[in-house]
Amino acid sequence: MHYFSTNRRSPRADFRETVLQGQPDDNGLYFPETIAHFELDEIASLLKKPNAEIGFAVISPYVDGQIPESELFRICSETVDFEFPMVAITDRISTLELFHGPTLAFKDVGARFMSRCLCFFSQQRSQKTIVIAATSGDTGGAVANGFYGMNGIEVVILYPKGRVSLVQEQQLTTLGGNITAIELDGSFDDCQRIAKALLADTELKKKAFVTSANSINVARWLPQQFYYFFAMKEWDAPPPVVSVPSGNFGNVCAGLLANASGLPVELFIAACNANDVIPRYMGTGRVEPMASVATLSNAMDVGDPSNFVRVIEIFHNEFPELKKKLASVSVSDSETKDTMRQVFDSHGYVLDPHGAVGYKALSDHLGKNPTARGFFLETAHPVKFESVVHILGTFGSVPESVAELNKRQKQSIASEPDTEQVKEIVLSKI
Ligand SMILES: *Cc1c(COP(=O)(O)O)cnc(C)c1O
Repeated sequence: MHYFSTNRRSPRADFRETVLQGQPDDNGLYFPETIAHFELDEIASLLKKPNAEIGFAVISPYVDGQIPESELFRICSETVDFEFPMVAITDRISTLELFHGPTLAFKDVGARFMSRCLCFFSQQRSQKTIVIAATSGDTGGAVANGFYGMNGIEVVILYPKGRVSLVQEQQLTTLGGNITAIELDGSFDDCQRIAKALLADTELKKKAFVTSANSINVARWLPQQFYYFFAMKEWDAPPPVVSVPSGNFGNVCAGLLANASGLPVELFIAACNANDVIPRYMGTGRVEPMASVATLSNAMDVGDPSNFVRVIEIFHNEFPELKKKLASVSVSDSETKDTMRQVFDSHGYVLDPHGAVGYKALSDHLGKNPTARGFFLETAHPVKFESVVHILGTFGSVPESVAELNKRQKQSIASEPDTEQVKEIVLSKI
């Protein structure tokens, strides 16, 4: 299996190269040359197996022997080593809870798989590996946790001071060990700018293998297919409508890939907040990026969704085909709050703002399609967002791991938004 660049100006690469490189030089995204295919009876027998085996079967065609089978199986088992429950909220709407991993968000799945692949491939190199990531919240914690304790890998996370939630900050700053959190006195854009500069820094690149392990790496994207398969274990016919709270469109794109591989799904809804580039595209057929606007569902505040080119690739650039399988709508902050209140009052279920966007999009769709049923993805636990307690007066039941975080010491290094200052910190880790 090889991967080509969606911009088609970089050479094709195998799984190992795409994981190590992250993004092709022509700034496109890597995409597999062939999409795996499973017959319906194969899927039916697969769904009777444990999650680790499902993950292994789904990912194997894409790894294509570049990680030995026993090793890949171990990686898959560790990646999905927690619950993925489907919870009914009404008789037609369920939620697939993806927040039972170590950092309480779906990003744990991709981050755990990617970190283990990168660790495997970097063992074959003599240099130390430095992973640099900028985060506005959930990504940093998942990446830090995924790499925690791995030999030969140092992780440096840049986060904007005072702009991530308490739980998110604790998840980033209390690990220690090979994880260094840099609290930057600036914005998320500053964090990203400095991370980019460091990744391109020739002095650093001479001393270590420097990588971003970012969200467009195929090793983060592809394993997100797993839980769409897990969901179908608990689903009777007819195929569901699946609503996915979306920002960079990696998650919904993984669902579309699973569907293109044979997993039966009636329709995907990419549920967006006020950042409505793709809902607009559904009307016009043109992707017109814009500056992002801040919302309650801040992990989806994306004005130029980077994974959308992969969605287009799945449908071979055929807009009418794409529109048969994917709908996209925009949900406002006031609708998000109303949905959180209404679902809590009527069903006692605490939605986080991202899940609420997914719920609202699904329930509107089902209102117009009386025979359809579906589920939405709960992408993070409500306790990660302080707004939840302001809107509902409660976070619902809080996992024990959150109380554990409160007992731990914050360890972070304060820095001005200055590349040289951050570079000194990174150099001290090599
Ligand atoms: C990252 C994130 C999203 C958006 O996922 P994409 O793959 O970028 O579309 C949604 N909800 C939460 C809680 C997230 O952390």
